[in-house]
Amino acid sequence: MIRQRQSVLQLDDQDALERAVELMTIPGPPGKESEVQEYIVRVLRRAAVPESWIRVDDCHRRSPFGGETGNLIVTLPGTAKGPRRLLMAHLDTVPICVGAQPVLRGHYVRNLNSASGLGADNRSGTATILTALIEIMRRELPHPPLTFLWCVQEEVGLYGSRYVDVSLLQKPTMGFNWDGDLPQRVTIGAIGARRYTAVIQGVASHAGVAPERGVNALVVASLAISELHRRGWHGAVRKRDGQGTANIGIVAGGNATNVVMPELRIEGEVRSHDRAFQKKMIAAYKEAFNRAAQAVSNVDGKRARVKFKDHESYRPFRLREDSPVVTIAEEAVRAIGLEPERYVANGGLDANSMALHRIPTVTFGAGQRDVHTTRESMHIPSFLRACRLALYLAVDGRIQERTSS
Ligand SMILES: [Zn+2]
Repeated sequence: MIRQRQSVLQLDDQDALERAVELMTIPGPPGKESEVQEYIVRVLRRAAVPESWIRVDDCHRRSPFGGETGNLIVTLPGTAKGPRRLLMAHLDTVPICVGAQPVLRGHYVRNLNSASGLGADNRSGTATILTALIEIMRRELPHPPLTFLWCVQEEVGLYGSRYVDVSLLQKPTMGFNWDGDLPQRVTIGAIGARRYTAVIQGVASHAGVAPERGVNALVVASLAISELHRRGWHGAVRKRDGQGTANIGIVAGGNATNVVMPELRIEGEVRSHDRAFQKKMIAAYKEAFNRAAQAVSNVDGKRARVKFKDHESYRPFRLREDSPVVTIAEEAVRAIGLEPERYVANGGLDANSMALHRIPTVTFGAGQRDVHTTRESMHIPSFLRACRLALYLAVDGRIQERTSS
């Protein structure tokens, strides 16, 4: 039986690695994934995947980010019995990865272009599920019904997975997602986030001639932010009734040094595993801006106005530890010779969106190191283990062992 298992897992390492490296050379920042998508479709055609199995949805028409193409979806009818399984990975890379020049260095793929990121996040995951599909086609391995999903626009807010055309997925009962470092890491939950925009409308005035007639929007903002900082509502937030993180990420305002700054726009986010606590953090921000606006007035007694808006960016989720998807995921990790490590992530994942679509999804790593930086690399042995794991899950290794023993 061990021998049978090994034979299922025997894959063409060289081929898999070349695919990952090639994928990293193709630019594909969020919203501009056409070229990398076309590469995958070419690979699928070469592997004799029937045209009727290949679809691209229209998620980019629903995404607030827009974008040039939708998610790539490939559905395979089962050649063995079993509930449909979903294998997924996001296609886009953070924008700094455009221009990557991947090169093999020992156990790693590194980047010759020191000014860019490598894009192992998430071309390693992209290559992982593509490899599983190619191996199935090449070796005609029996498998349950399968859906492969390459998502766009993960890095800007999980938009591809969130706005996926669910009807094209053909009702998978569980999902497996690749995005991260360690292949044995079984991520069963992830944090959620809310984003807010605060627009502070002060009063413009000539800064030299009549400064007393102005209300400086930045003065209002700075009072609010210093209060939030002092009270522990910025950065790592730890309160008696919850914890999370909060960040002010974008500030824009002012257009001349001789004008009292009339308007300032602030964008930020809060994250927590607890949705109620997210709202509490948001409330702290809203109240602080409103209080600060009351504290500053011009000679006429005029004050700034605050327009505050927030929305849920993605929802936290937590799979039950005894749910079938977790059990199957952990069995598969053991089958490839590793010990599973359960994990809950503090960043959003496409699995957050799948939870919304009621497709319970675990996430594994695929050898990504130092993501979103110019030091990014891909650890080759971890990537190849991820490929084996994906293949094992795609063909339902338990079926193979049963039928061949
Ligand atoms: Zn990623």
